Amino acid sequence: MRIILVGPPGAGKGTQAQLLNKKTGVSILVTGDLLRDAVKRGDAVGKEADSYMSAGKLVPDEVVTKVILARMDAENLSSKGFMLDGYPRTLQQAQALDKYLEGKKAKIDAVLYFSVPDEIVKARIPGRLICKKCKAIYPNDHDTLYCKNCKEDSLEPRKDDKPEVITERLVEYKQKTAPLLDYYKSKKLLIEIPANRKIDDVFNDCMKHLNQFLNKPKK
Ligand code: AMP
Repeated sequence: MRIILVGPPGAGKGTQAQLLNKKTGVSILVTGDLLRDAVKRGDAVGKEADSYMSAGKLVPDEVVTKVILARMDAENLSSKGFMLDGYPRTLQQAQALDKYLEGKKAKIDAVLYFSVPDEIVKARIPGRLICKKCKAIYPNDHDTLYCKNCKEDSLEPRKDDKPEVITERLVEYKQKTAPLLDYYKSKKLLIEIPANRKIDDVFNDCMKHLNQFLNKPKK
């Protein structure tokens, strides 16, 4: 199956992507993780992305598209299937992805839109933690740095989870990413998942919609 996860920052896309990956074995590509790794390595992409990410701005389309499509190619994901968390985030990126998949004779099966009110997002993000090793995401009521997967104190806050940066990320989302909802709705791919619910309830809702794509013969 080939799936896109879309929604505002803090909607729970990352958490659901990890659960869906565990359940289905379908690979996830997390743009934010790929970019954060590049920033840590200090390579050319990381150097370019860093200032945008720290300011809560989207990294330029060409940079992100190159990183994502190179990874999809390297892992042959257009044929194996994938879940994209954090890409596309602009219309230009969506069109670049469509063109790439067309070239591979593949297409998106569905776009899951995680809808959450702004107040909830603003309350969820500050204080959440991410594991620097396995990338697991821990909500802000987790009160130690201990990661249960890695069995060590490997959790850290995200640099861009500060209030002023969160505000900017939400502005970017509304201006540049929200138009994708209409784009995918017009292609009859959009499935809205109300995400202001318990993690398990959101997950079960996702699975209910995705089951139909799971054992579909590859086209
Ligand atoms: P995320 O972890 O998905 O919240 O992404 C963290 C940051 O990485 C964003 O605020 C952007 O600066 C950058 N980023 C991630 N995905 C994209 C994308 N598809 N296009 C542009 N910038 C991105």
